[in-house]
Amino acid sequence: MARYTGAVCRLCRREGQKLFLKGERCYSDKCSVGIRAYAPGQHGQGRKKSSEYGLQLRAKQKARRFYGVQEGQFHHYFEIAERKQGVTGTNLLKILESRLDNVVYRSGFASSRAEARQLVGHGHFEVNGKRVDIASYLLRAGDIVTLCEKARGSEKFKAVIEANSAKPVPEWMDLDRDNFSVKVVNLPERDQIDAPVEEQLIVEFYSK
Ligand code: SF4
Repeated sequence: MARYTGAVCRLCRREGQKLFLKGERCYSDKCSVGIRAYAPGQHGQGRKKSSEYGLQLRAKQKARRFYGVQEGQFHHYFEIAERKQGVTGTNLLKILESRLDNVVYRSGFASSRAEARQLVGHGHFEVNGKRVDIASYLLRAGDIVTLCEKARGSEKFKAVIEANSAKPVPEWMDLDRDNFSVKVVNLPERDQIDAPVEEQLIVEFYSK
C-alpha cells in the first residue's frame, strides 16, 4: 500500500484526537482538531456509534498513523510481538517505540515523526558510530544515536533542537544535547510509553 500523501490533519480528525503529526502547529491554536472537532468528509458529523470491529479497526489505524507505519509493516510488527515472550500488546508498542525515527523524534532532533523519517532517510544519523538511513531500524538497549558531524553546524538543526529543548525526553533515553546524541538506556515498559494506543483492541483486531 502506498504511503498516505494527503492532508495529515484529516487523520487526527478521523481518529478524534491529536496525533501530533505536524510539529509546532500541533501545539498551536491552528490545530484542526480544536477547530473542527469532527471527522472529515461528508458524513463526518453523522453517525458516531461503532461496532466492536469498528472500534478495533480504529485502534489499529490510530496506532499506525501515530507512528507513521504502513499496514504491511505494522502487521509484521504484530507477528513479531506475538512470537515474543510477554504481553503481545506491550511487545508491539516496544517495537514501535524502538524505531529509529521514533527515537530521533522523541529526543527532540525532529519536530515530528515524519520529519524524523526524512532526516534519517537523508543519512543524518549514526547508530553506534555507523550511518543508518533506515527509519524503521529497530534500536536495542545500549544503542547510541548521534547526529552526524556534517549536520551539527546546520542552522536548521540548531533551530529544531532549540525549539524542542523544552519537550520532555522519555526516561528510557539518555539525551546528551551538547554532543548531539541519545542513548537508548533500555526499551520502555508500558507505563513509560506516552502514546494514545489501545493495544488490547489491536490484539483483538488481528486475532480474528
Ligand atoms: Fe493533528 Fe497536528 Fe494537524 Fe492538530 S495540527 S490535527 S495534532 S497534525
